[in-house]
Amino acid sequence: MSSESVDEMVVEAIAAFCSASDLESLKVARLTHFGDRSEISLANREIGALPPAAKAEVGKRIGEAKARVKEALESREAELTQIRDNEVLLSEKVDVSVPVDRLKRGARHPLTTLMERLCDVFIAMGYEIAEGPELELEWANFDALNFPKDHPARLMQDTFFVESPDSGVVLRTHTSPIQVRAMLERELPIYVVAPGRVFRTDELDATHTPVFHQIEGLAVDKGLSMADLRGTLNHLAHVMFGPQIDIRWRPSFFPFTEPSAEVDLKCFVCLGDSSAVGCRACGGEGWIEWGGCGMVNPKVLRAVGIDPDVYSGFAFGMGIERTLMFRSGVSDMRDMVEGDIRFTGAFGLEA
Ligand SMILES: [Zn+2]
Repeated sequence: MSSESVDEMVVEAIAAFCSASDLESLKVARLTHFGDRSEISLANREIGALPPAAKAEVGKRIGEAKARVKEALESREAELTQIRDNEVLLSEKVDVSVPVDRLKRGARHPLTTLMERLCDVFIAMGYEIAEGPELELEWANFDALNFPKDHPARLMQDTFFVESPDSGVVLRTHTSPIQVRAMLERELPIYVVAPGRVFRTDELDATHTPVFHQIEGLAVDKGLSMADLRGTLNHLAHVMFGPQIDIRWRPSFFPFTEPSAEVDLKCFVCLGDSSAVGCRACGGEGWIEWGGCGMVNPKVLRAVGIDPDVYSGFAFGMGIERTLMFRSGVSDMRDMVEGDIRFTGAFGLEA
């Protein structure tokens, strides 16, 4: 085998390796030019058959050629391996700045969490949670609460009657019928708090909704006075709004309490400072209307079989939507009912 033809084999092999663009095609080139059936391997095998004089020279020539081809192969393999590794690193690159959890988490509705918060305040004072049906007997919603048949309050409340006005069944207009049920069903003394959904025929606008929520409290025991009621509501205001937020009462009238009062909350923005004219939270009043309260009317106690000469009670109630509006600065009630998760999400993931 001439040195020219050996050189030719080497050049062909190196050219094939260099033109291999990836490890896969290099493998093909290696089999062709450096495999068992390649020209150079066949030539190597033929050395044994040569006469002894030529053996050493051809053997040296082929050996050198094999070393050059091997070196070229290894060098190209190293290059292509490097290229492949770089591509893999690039394609498997992880952007550590991308948020791990792209799934949007939901949030509980602030009306729900606020109601639970209010209930917790009372549970801590030893109250129990009471419930009642939303479809309520007209008797429990009005009659037992001392609303006479022709009492203007019964009309003022704009009730949803079921089927016909004389069906005796209404969508409850307040949570107060739960008081009636609690007094009928429970042993004395009674300390209950009743959160729930109530219904009135209002149009939905920024400050009204036909479906809203109230929380109602009732205590019936021996020797309860308005001082106990006052202390209870003051404690509630302090826990919910801060120790500097007191309440005040204004005389009012409810058929089921006597005496009755409106409950105002000291404005937690201006703290009732009269110089803060134009406070947006209270309109410069210094106080915000919160709810109603009073001593349970003896007629109501008698209607459910409790002796008003032995027992006395107090009751109070407030709107949850209204509380959320001034506690969290929600200005439009429609935001609470339209179900936009951007609204609830803003309140965060309260447990
Ligand atoms: Zn104010």
